[in-house]
Amino acid sequence: MTHVVTESCIKCHDGPCLQVCPVDCFHEGLNFVVTNPYACIDCAVCVAECPGNAIYEEHDVPSDQKHFLQLNEEVAEKWPKITRSVPALPDAEKWKDLKGKLKLLD
Ligand code: SF4
Repeated sequence: MTHVVTESCIKCHDGPCLQVCPVDCFHEGLNFVVTNPYACIDCAVCVAECPGNAIYEEHDVPSDQKHFLQLNEEVAEKWPKITRSVPALPDAEKWKDLKGKLKLLD
């Protein structure tokens, strides 16, 4: 099993989750982060750290966001690893609860 990042993170990218991962399995894009599902040890400590409630254990991912399981896996191979917390993007508060942001993923 694994934990994955879902849509709420797009254009929020508020990063306290990034520095708590004991196996450094987060990877960073311009406005989103993902986990490497092969590195994740399912400790779940990142879940409570995410201010956007964007991180789910794979079996708990909402039905309309199941595609983020594959997306985390694919993108983690391409994006650089990140292990430090980063400030939220400008307007993160405005964006974090909006739906339909996949087309804005960078
Ligand atoms: Fe890292 Fe644990 Fe979150 Fe997996 S569940 S991404 S190992 S902090």
